[in-house]
Amino acid sequence: MRIILLGPPGAGKGTQASNIANEFHITHISTGEIFRKIQKEGTSLGLKAKEYIDKGLLVPDDLTVEIIDDRLDRKDCIEGFILDGFPRTIIQAKALDDKLKAKKISLDLVINIQLKNQLIINRITGRRICENCGENYHTNFYPPKIEGKCDLCGGQLFQRKDDQEETIKKRLEVYTNQTQPLIDYYKDKGILHTINGEQSIEGVFKDIKIILQGVL
Ligand code: ADP
Ligand code: ADP
Ligand code: ZN
Repeated sequence: MRIILLGPPGAGKGTQASNIANEFHITHISTGEIFRKIQKEGTSLGLKAKEYIDKGLLVPDDLTVEIIDDRLDRKDCIEGFILDGFPRTIIQAKALDDKLKAKKISLDLVINIQLKNQLIINRITGRRICENCGENYHTNFYPPKIEGKCDLCGGQLFQRKDDQEETIKKRLEVYTNQTQPLIDYYKDKGILHTINGEQSIEGVFKDIKIILQGVL
């Protein structure tokens, strides 16, 4: 199964992509996570990406497409994948179409998680991430059992630099201008499913499972 998760920052793409990956055993690819990893490793690509990420801007398309191109060639993508946070521009979507066409495969569905701006801001400001394993938490909606510590590995939780309020406004603007047009792009292809992201994590996952079971 080849799936794209679409939605504004904080919509729950990462949370739901992990749920799908665990239950359906599909490879989860998050461009945001790849960028954070190469940043931490201090590679020149990682440091270049950081300049954009910290300002709430998108990393340039050529760099992002190159990363995804390599990632999709890995063996664990043969059976399928969930793209979380890619594509984010029409140029990226077209590059993905070309890539899949060359591999003689196609997308099964695009799940668009929708929610209103005020909720987005609450989601992002409360987001905390494990520095060790990357697990996602929320101070109010999905708190860890012990404050500041990861339930899975005991790692320290931190707030992303780009999750602070000033940067969020920029990211929402970028989403509206550059990413939102993808909704119509995939609607025109007939593979878009929009779900209500204002429900609980379990509620959203239930809706996703209904859609997935429809195409399995
Ligand atoms: P995205 O990958 O779209 O940016 P995340 O999955 O990281 O979104 O979710 C953003 C924050 O909101 C995280 O802290 C996560 O724990 C929390 N969250 C995700 N889905 C829900 C939900 N349905 N209800 C409440 N909180 C949620
Ligand atoms: P969120 O969970 O808030 O949706 P991500 O973790 O997916 O954010 O991405 C964090 C940042 O990494 C983005 O704000 C952007 O700067 C960069 N990024 C991630 N994916 C892409 C992409 N497909 N194209 C360009 N930049 C990206
Ligand atoms: Zn952890």
